[in-house]
Amino acid sequence: MTALLEVNRLCVEFQTRHGCVRALDDVSFSIAPGETLGLVGESGAGKSLTGAAIIGLLEPPARLCGGSIVFDGQRIDQLPDASLRRLRGRHIGSIFQDPLTALNPLYTVGAQLVETIRTHLPLSAADATARAVQLLEETGIQGAAARLGQYPHQFSGGMRQRVVIALALAAEPRLLIADEPTTALDVSVQAQVISLLKRLGRQRGLAVLLVTHDMGVIAEACDRVAVMYAGRIVEIGPVREVIHAPAHPYTAGLMESIPPMTGERERLLQIDGAMPRLGATPKGCAFHPRCPREMARCRTERPELLPAGASRAACWLHDGETFR
Ligand code: SF4
Repeated sequence: MTALLEVNRLCVEFQTRHGCVRALDDVSFSIAPGETLGLVGESGAGKSLTGAAIIGLLEPPARLCGGSIVFDGQRIDQLPDASLRRLRGRHIGSIFQDPLTALNPLYTVGAQLVETIRTHLPLSAADATARAVQLLEETGIQGAAARLGQYPHQFSGGMRQRVVIALALAAEPRLLIADEPTTALDVSVQAQVISLLKRLGRQRGLAVLLVTHDMGVIAEACDRVAVMYAGRIVEIGPVREVIHAPAHPYTAGLMESIPPMTGERERLLQIDGAMPRLGATPKGCAFHPRCPREMARCRTERPELLPAGASRAACWLHDGETFR
């Protein structure tokens, strides 16, 4: 299927006192309508920065320094701020970790929904109100009509995140960027919100970029996954393959550190060491100081994404040359 979003060789850098630091390096992926792509990695890997770059919300001193972002055939990384804001409001919805940042505590949920709907869609106040009720119902809020008159603080955390999802969908966007949408919620509520996102994404043919540090969320909600490490994608492929047959040693380590669903594991395995700081990325493969399968070549040559079964992995283990 033709991609709705194409991110090509995206680079982001920070200007610091000690010079320029590359925070995202050569990040490429695409998402088709109706597809959910997960971006997973440790904190600082660059996954949230990727989401922010796509919606044009990079905060200085971060800035785009290479690559392109194409939405529905149109390059959007060079749009003037006003055009990008319009596009963001109308065609790209976003959900963040803390629902309170997306909601104004001084206005009722209904007023916020109706205003967003009427800003982007040519509907009367009555039709916009009916649409707001329908959106709240779709996100599983009981007694939706009565709750329109309530303020954000009158909703529980999980219900507030449902309101934020309704708000993100109010303008009928085609792309949804969800950055750790369940991290602030109780575990029992997390699963409900994930299955809601999955259902709404499929029903509406939305392209979804789901940013998370949680492989469990990826397994539950995504069609494909891109694993990030030190500002780069190190593995990308269908969720099932990446989870069951990880091609990159870092992904394999991430999988090992997830608690098993059944049975007991004495001690969770951990990947030794820590991800390098920005500006201190090792030469060659950035993962080599932590990699149990490191070879001489890994210390000097940086691997690009190479075919690895149904996935692609930035690892010399998948280069036929290595074993000749
Ligand atoms: Fe490990 Fe080398 Fe592969 Fe990097 S390229 S992940 S160091 S085997």
